[in-house]
Amino acid sequence: MSHVIHRSLAKVPLVAVGGKGVQLFDKAGKAYIDASGGAAVSCLGHAQPDVMAAMHRQIDQLAYAHTSFFTTEVQEELADHLVAHAPAGMTDVYFVSGGSEAVEAALKMARQYFVEIGQPERTHFVARRQSYHGNTLGALAVGGNEWRRKQFAPILMDVGRVAPAYEYRDRRADESQQAYTARLLAEIDAKFQELGTDKVIAFVAEPVVGATLGAIAAPAGYWTGLRALCDRYGILLIADEVMCGMGRTGSLHAVEQEGISPDLMTIAKGLGGGYQPIGAVLAQGRIVEAMRKGSGLFQHGHTYIGHPMAAAAALAVQKVIQRDQLMPQVLARGAYLQKQLHARFDTNPHVGDIRGRGLFWGVELVQDKDSKAPFDAALKLHAQIKAQAMANGVLCYPMGGTIDGKHGDHILLAPPFIISESELDQVVERLGDAIDTVLA
Ligand code: PMP
Repeated sequence: MSHVIHRSLAKVPLVAVGGKGVQLFDKAGKAYIDASGGAAVSCLGHAQPDVMAAMHRQIDQLAYAHTSFFTTEVQEELADHLVAHAPAGMTDVYFVSGGSEAVEAALKMARQYFVEIGQPERTHFVARRQSYHGNTLGALAVGGNEWRRKQFAPILMDVGRVAPAYEYRDRRADESQQAYTARLLAEIDAKFQELGTDKVIAFVAEPVVGATLGAIAAPAGYWTGLRALCDRYGILLIADEVMCGMGRTGSLHAVEQEGISPDLMTIAKGLGGGYQPIGAVLAQGRIVEAMRKGSGLFQHGHTYIGHPMAAAAALAVQKVIQRDQLMPQVLARGAYLQKQLHARFDTNPHVGDIRGRGLFWGVELVQDKDSKAPFDAALKLHAQIKAQAMANGVLCYPMGGTIDGKHGDHILLAPPFIISESELDQVVERLGDAIDTVLA
């Protein structure tokens, strides 16, 4: 009998007792390749010695000091590191304890910025359908996952909603990629106009959509167009890199590949690599300057912001990524995984699309490739595949109901950056067997 409120209230999950490198071990002694890094978290795998040592040093020194009294050297050093590697103009960091908290903080910072500069009439956010930004009420409000929002919708802030960049399903057969991008941007422009271009605070989106769509990047020109559109109306652009950021797609930040710099950017997951709960908001200097010159206070805060243990773990993770030059490795192993996924699944009638960047890959399941007809999510194929893959000794991240809350299944892969080619072979083989077994 468990007294923990688990996600499934009906059954207690397996008990994890250890981890080493890309593997996790359960209490029965079974080993699993952690091919989703949890949920794109464990970028260095498990029990990374440098990170463990940094955490031990920190716990011996100082575990907690409240930010209303003190800063800490470790938090300052982490902020310096993040700013030194941030997109252009991002000069300041606000630390939190995870992704949802980062999104909440970014939304509030954006709103406060406009209050400080004398535009309090800006009260709306615009975001995309089939997106995920977290589970707290503000983050859930901007998120577009119908299944997660369903029962809470009546108590959520009203958010302007536009289409995601979901080329596989939404680009028309007779439409060029350029025309598709232009259509998506025109819809955003129309939404800004509808709400009032001087009433919108910010547009929020994931540069590579993770949990809801399975590693989907926008077509070329989308983010530069979006940046220009936001600039035209003085609307802030918030990039949610909680899942796709911190090296997951082969550059430290996914927006680097889009050639733009957002006004605010949320990071979490890979920031601390799973060693500690940590997230952050990176902000353009002018936003922080406006708050500094205005009320002189960010009207927000949580008890654990800038936690020394979390900062120590994150700093160690980021130093290992830099020291071991893991970004080129992510690109090389990602290219290998892409090749192996195509080799294994191109002939499978139920694998409709394989997409991704770096070590962030999505596999979308369909009834048949020509019609692209999705399965009914009530069949829970994604969950069955996850269970079968676990039985085969591999962890992958499943999502269903991604199209409209009722249809669509995909599997997300986000293995540690240190995974070897032969381990990737095993991931593809075991996942392939799981898909074959479930869809036989
Ligand atoms: N934003 C994005 C893009 C995410 O993928 C997630 C988590 N999957 C979150 C926010 C929320 O992060 P957390 O679960 O750490 O609160």
